[in-house]
Amino acid sequence: MPTMVSKEEALARIVAEGGRPECLMCAILDAKVGDLHVIAEEDGLVLMLPRYVRCWGHAVVVPRAHVTTYGACGEVLWAKIQAMAFRAATMIEALRAPKRVYITSTGSNTRELVQTSRHIHVHVIPVDTEEDRPADVFTWANGVWVAERDEWTALADEYRAYWSR
Ligand SMILES: [Zn+2]
Repeated sequence: MPTMVSKEEALARIVAEGGRPECLMCAILDAKVGDLHVIAEEDGLVLMLPRYVRCWGHAVVVPRAHVTTYGACGEVLWAKIQAMAFRAATMIEALRAPKRVYITSTGSNTRELVQTSRHIHVHVIPVDTEEDRPADVFTWANGVWVAERDEWTALADEYRAYWSR
């Protein structure tokens, strides 16, 4: 079963896995920050499982290209990201039957932080309780779920099988 660790423990694990890379997302995509669980890679986009989550089943869409502003991303790439996020949301609805699914780019064009990256990415997050609110889902203050490698692999396999139907 996935287990909850504190924000401090999660941040320490990320640093232990990958140090403090220039771009966290590029480093994750290059599998330089621990295991990388890719669900799909299509047309310059990667759909993957982040390994520190507030909601089990969370997926994220990341372009391979290192783009850090919406202007640099451009409409065409943004539309592709949104299309993949939409498809991921329908997958999550079908497989996990959450109460709702958040699709969000929280955006961080400030300095690179351990748990956030300027590199544009879109979260697709299943929310399982009616009481959950973005203020709780988008903070690590109350802890973060982590799991063993085989648990991540099983989730990625489940998503991959659905994606490639
Ligand atoms: Zn990057």
